[in-house]
Amino acid sequence: MAEDIAELQERYERFVAERYWEDYHAPKNLAASVAVEAGELLEVFQWHDVLPAAAYEDAADVEAAAADELADVFIYGLGLAAALDIDVREAIAAKLDRNERRFDPETAAAISREFDRWRESTDE
Ligand SMILES: [Mg+2]
Repeated sequence: MAEDIAELQERYERFVAERYWEDYHAPKNLAASVAVEAGELLEVFQWHDVLPAAAYEDAADVEAAAADELADVFIYGLGLAAALDIDVREAIAAKLDRNERRFDPETAAAISREFDRWRESTDE
């Protein structure tokens, strides 16, 4: 059974402390590390066409590489949250609340349909 967020954060903090890395895991460095790892995640798909997720169902190597880099993003994110005393669950829920208000479904769906029509019109 996977650990919950608090357990993962404790494990991360113990990992860092046991190696005397606290000074290196300053908020600025952790934020930079999130961006670096997000770049590594993007590198997994760098030269791929834009494909639906279903296209990767039989691509275990791609899935494993993406999971590995995504884990790096989350680990540094959890580290940054711990360093700044951010409650990850609260922060995510609050952001989802704001996004739900910001992108009302009808308007967002209408824009998406319009974009789909534009993309189809530019296909050769
Ligand atoms: Mg990585």
